[in-house]
Amino acid sequence: REFEKKISKKFNTKYVQCVTSGTSAIKTALKSIGVKKDDEVITQSFNFIATVEAIVDCGANPVIASINNSLNLSLIDLKKQVTKKTKAIILVHMLGYCAEIKEIYKFCKKKKIILIEDNCEAIGAKYKKKYLGTIGDIGILSFDFGKNITTGEGGCILTNNKKIYKYCRSYH
Ligand SMILES: *Cc1c(COP(=O)(O)O)cnc(C)c1O
Repeated sequence: REFEKKISKKFNTKYVQCVTSGTSAIKTALKSIGVKKDDEVITQSFNFIATVEAIVDCGANPVIASINNSLNLSLIDLKKQVTKKTKAIILVHMLGYCAEIKEIYKFCKKKKIILIEDNCEAIGAKYKKKYLGTIGDIGILSFDFGKNITTGEGGCILTNNKKIYKYCRSYH
């Protein structure tokens, strides 16, 4: 709980829920927004397997969008992948490099699709004055042994949405 409070202060986000890994943080986040069987969740081709694992673990179908020259999610291709079944988008800031977060979040809001920002690989990086992971609806961090900051194994969910947080708190 002390660690959660410190993360919340450091990243300037209202709510933080710690879990056992980045993968379980993604799954918990997907569950909190009601992702279930036959829903579609879009993520990107250049990625870490955990995003797809978490989607499949919820019984949903992963849809893979292409990347752009910066190796991050392509907004152009993302637009082509959205269907009526799209429940959420998991964007990954790959290898410490910020994705087109502003434009993608604007698109998500217009389409009323939840944006999950997987920030397992860019902890501490910022877009303008905000930490990555605190811009979309939900942010994900991993504290795995191979990441920039580690607890051995671990992860957390960042959000400013009380309802999402409450669900994550009970579900974890
Ligand atoms: C490492 C990583 C994860 C998963 O984290 P674990 O703590 O290993 O489960 C998820 N997404 C990305 C992009 C990662 O690099």
